[in-house]
Amino acid sequence: MRLILLGPPGAGKGTQAQFLIDEFGIPQLSTGDMLRAAIAAETPLGLEVKDIIARGDLVPDETVVGIISDRLDEEDCKNGFILDGFPRTTAQAEALEVLLEDKGLSLDAVVEIKADADTLVARILKRAAESGGAREDDNEEVLRNRLDVYEELTAPLVEYYSGKGLVKSVDGMAGIEEVTASIMKALKG
Ligand code: ADP
Repeated sequence: MRLILLGPPGAGKGTQAQFLIDEFGIPQLSTGDMLRAAIAAETPLGLEVKDIIARGDLVPDETVVGIISDRLDEEDCKNGFILDGFPRTTAQAEALEVLLEDKGLSLDAVVEIKADADTLVARILKRAAESGGAREDDNEEVLRNRLDVYEELTAPLVEYYSGKGLVKSVDGMAGIEEVTASIMKALKG
């Protein structure tokens, strides 16, 4: 199963990815997690992206495309994968298409988790408060920027993938288990 999880910050992509990992035995490829790991390890990549992420802007397309290309070649991706946080722009989606074509692979579905912005702000600020503000980009100002960036650059991907007949939309405002059930139903149906 080769999936993309699409949805604004705080929609529950990480939570649902966890379930899909167990259900299908495939890894979650989260560009956000990979970039944060690079920042924590103070690698050249981490230094390059640190300030961009702190502002809630997007890192350059070629940077994330390179990371994902390498990651897709790893052994654990041979039965599939869940892309979480990638692609995030039309250019990334087009690059992914070329990558997959070169590797002889195709996508099975793009799961769109729908959620409204105000609920997301409340949700993420609550998560940040409970975790002691672990993520530097989880303050209200940066968060509003991340949501704006999503609307402007990432939301158009719903149409992009709809045109390919791949999109399954679920209501991310429901409870966690309900969202999981909708995703399973959408993937099996
Ligand atoms: P969230 O979904 O909560 O906004 P992520 O963990 O997916 O957060 O990403 C955190 C940050 O990492 C983004 O705001 C952005 O700066 C950077 N990032 C992650 N994935 C990408 C990507 N595919 N393209 C560009 N920047 C990315």
